[in-house]
Amino acid sequence: MTQNWIINTSSPLTVPRAATAQETDHAPFIPPWTLNPNPTMTMARLNDKVALVTGAAGGIGSAVARAFVGQGARVHLVDLQEEPLVALANSLGALASYSLADVSDENATRTYIADALSLRARIDIAFLNAGIVGAVSRIEETPNEVFDRVMRVNVRGVWLGLAGVLPMMRAQGGGSIVVTSSIAGTRGTAGQGAYVASKHAVLGLMKTAALEGAPHRIRVNAICPAPIDTEMMQALAAGIDPGDHEAGKRKVLSAIPLGRYGTADEVAKLVMFLSGDDSSYCTGAAYMIDGGGTAGPVR
Ligand code: NAD
Repeated sequence: MTQNWIINTSSPLTVPRAATAQETDHAPFIPPWTLNPNPTMTMARLNDKVALVTGAAGGIGSAVARAFVGQGARVHLVDLQEEPLVALANSLGALASYSLADVSDENATRTYIADALSLRARIDIAFLNAGIVGAVSRIEETPNEVFDRVMRVNVRGVWLGLAGVLPMMRAQGGGSIVVTSSIAGTRGTAGQGAYVASKHAVLGLMKTAALEGAPHRIRVNAICPAPIDTEMMQALAAGIDPGDHEAGKRKVLSAIPLGRYGTADEVAKLVMFLSGDDSSYCTGAAYMIDGGGTAGPVR
């Protein structure tokens, strides 16, 4: 796999500092990270990589897809909502392709992976992210069908995605997989039994896939976001306090030390880190992006 490192000298991270007195006795100090063969180009860390994104039409998936393209990758987008999926693919131009597919369906999974391979020849990165919340209700009040549906999309969808992508990455000689769990994958939340169970299961799958993938240079990690300002979060807040969305939002934020929703773009930055070689020693781990929500109670 090739990696193209083009450092943008206009980035605040790469502003050269002045040489110290000691350094001026010798050759001038030029920090190596400021050397840029082409200063007009932005950082393109994922050039030539192919990234698969499920749940691509949603808030987090679309932000991640845009970030991948921003870093030079080609993307294959998967979702079951046709209109936003096609609109996103069109907005990303030639670097994007897509499959309309239900990730919980075995044949559809085979097809979206085959589509990605036939259009892009390989998959270096897989962001298995499609998910649903289900209902906000106590365990005994939640219909079994809701539990089954949530487990089907959130767990079976990731299971099928891993089963499809792992052998392909093994044959390719490596890859990086990121799955989307949640803050709900690390602790209980009253009223979200099915969702909590599904997101715990996603972490178990991620750890197992990391162990099975490690000998083949496949890294597998999970992100645990919450609360992120997407349609899903709006639906959740509305479910927490039906009829008063703002009250539901206040309840959610009362447990978040940073006191705000995160943005999908903030999540995308973490996914970029985990997808690329900057995280080359990271595998089998869950990364919180939760405004401090799991650090402890807000006082
Ligand atoms: P979203 O509702 O904006 O996006 C989810 C996307 O998944 C939608 O485009 C939807 O069409 C797609 N999807 C649902 N079922 C599918 C299926 N069977 N096959 C294919 N696509 C399907 O929500 P989001 O906030 O972007 O959520 C993305 C992921 O992040 C989910 O797994 C969610 O559980 C997780 N998450 C979100 C938050 C948050 O605060 N928003 C917090 C923690 C975890």
